[in-house]
Amino acid sequence: MLAALAAYPELGCTGGPYEVCPNWGVFEDVLCIGNEKTIPFLEGIMTEIIDIFPSKYIHIGGDEAPRTRWQKCSKCQALIRKEGLKADKQHTAEDRLQSYCTARIEKFLNEHGRQIIGWDEILEGDLAPNATVMSWRGSAGGIKAAQMGHDVIMTPNTYCYFDYFQSEDTKNEPYDAIGGYIPVEKVYSFDPVEGLDEKQQKYVLGVQANVWTEYMTSPEQVEYMVLPRMAALAEVQWTQPGKKEYNNFLQRLGQLAKFYDRDGLNYAKHVFKPMAESETKTE
Ligand SMILES: [Zn+2]
Repeated sequence: MLAALAAYPELGCTGGPYEVCPNWGVFEDVLCIGNEKTIPFLEGIMTEIIDIFPSKYIHIGGDEAPRTRWQKCSKCQALIRKEGLKADKQHTAEDRLQSYCTARIEKFLNEHGRQIIGWDEILEGDLAPNATVMSWRGSAGGIKAAQMGHDVIMTPNTYCYFDYFQSEDTKNEPYDAIGGYIPVEKVYSFDPVEGLDEKQQKYVLGVQANVWTEYMTSPEQVEYMVLPRMAALAEVQWTQPGKKEYNNFLQRLGQLAKFYDRDGLNYAKHVFKPMAESETKTE
């Protein structure tokens, strides 16, 4: 959105000037929701996206939007008063401004036959009625959403972030990573419906791994981060929790690795450690 503001500074609360940031991060300059041109601007973008992509779902993000500018913007505050958006114990009036924007976009997309997905931040305020929630800040957001009767995709950064390191010995890793530590065994141990009763479990559509590539410079590095953690996550999805057995999985993983080798894939070998060591010795 900072890039959008650089092109359309009149859509920001301060009016700019704005610059496209050369790096990644979370920025305080976001769209001015109180500006009457903002929602038509977003609807214009969505119209183009609808045109390009035939998918039922459109992920609108909805995360990492600081409320700083809105707190001091006369247009945003005027809209908060006009819409009667009120703070409560858990949410500020500005949180509700974010929900207002999400709900407007959801309504627009629903009218065009599409459904929205948003990160779990869309739970802050009033969740748009038909939204599917992607739970990334742990599983709590997904549990809350399922309890509220919303569809959920579990992608918690505690189990499913494949941009995190797979070894604690990060100095000897061949690639840099954003941080964290999620080994194959941890991925395998994930129970996406833990804490939900049978009825609520039905709202969990499935799990997803995220491989953010800020620190990845080659396809080989992406393969290394994904494999074999992807195999562990596949089993999380496809196997009944009672039938999961890590040691059994590891045995079968040896077979799968032969396919990785055949296809020349660059996979992480931490779980095959004894095998890798004996290979080193014979060299
Ligand atoms: Zn504003």
